[in-house]
Amino acid sequence: MQEEKKKCPFCGEEILKVAIKCKYCGSILDGSDQEKKITISGVDLR
Ligand SMILES: [Zn+2]
Repeated sequence: MQEEKKKCPFCGEEILKVAIKCKYCGSILDGSDQEKKITISGVDLR
């Protein structure tokens, strides 16, 4: 089975594409590829 990967927009480490939370820096990735969206852990900017 192939695991798709992407780079964490916050720390640049490779993580699973399905990951919603970076295991390296702990950032919430929101399950989407929107790298523009900035989410600070524990803070909702909306
Ligand atoms: Zn990260």
